[in-house]
Amino acid sequence: MVKELGFDVQPYTKADLYLLADTLVRLTNRDRAEMDALAAPPDTLPQRVFAEAAKAYAGLAQTWPTLKYAHPSIKKSMFRRYLNYLGVTGYLNPFTNEAQVNTTVPAFQTPFVTCHEIAHQIGFAPEQDANFIGYLAASRYSDVRFRYAANFEMLLYTIRRLARRPAAVAHRVEQDAPRHPGRCAAHHGFL
Ligand SMILES: [Zn+2]
Repeated sequence: MVKELGFDVQPYTKADLYLLADTLVRLTNRDRAEMDALAAPPDTLPQRVFAEAAKAYAGLAQTWPTLKYAHPSIKKSMFRRYLNYLGVTGYLNPFTNEAQVNTTVPAFQTPFVTCHEIAHQIGFAPEQDANFIGYLAASRYSDVRFRYAANFEMLLYTIRRLARRPAAVAHRVEQDAPRHPGRCAAHHGFL
């Protein structure tokens, strides 16, 4: 999938992972500072975030036309409390092909979760593919909340990978990572 989009895929080493984590720590801290400097608190209404996510994909399709999001249809999950209990943040309804996003997850995560679900909706079924496409969409978008959510999720993902390596390395990266109130590990079960 990634190769079809023109990316060169190489095996990675522990050093690569550490470098990636270090870069993501710097990116999330930069995004966080930019968000904190906003004059007014950003509008976090789900419908607003969904509309922005559709725009993020429109931007992405200019570079990769196969990623065009032709029929935006995202609904707040009808079963969001139940899904929260299960630790799921979003899913694709197979009967209607609508992306369902659980909007009771912390608001700062919603931009990435929405982009992840749209990736499923446009045909990328595997979780890793949806994460990658979702990251491409959110991390390149002009709205800093999307970039922050994307870099934060990717940082968690990278830390989890590092955690399978020597514990001290992952711990060191995590100490430098920005803290976000309300973050709950249970919400990351989809990664
Ligand atoms: Zn998914």
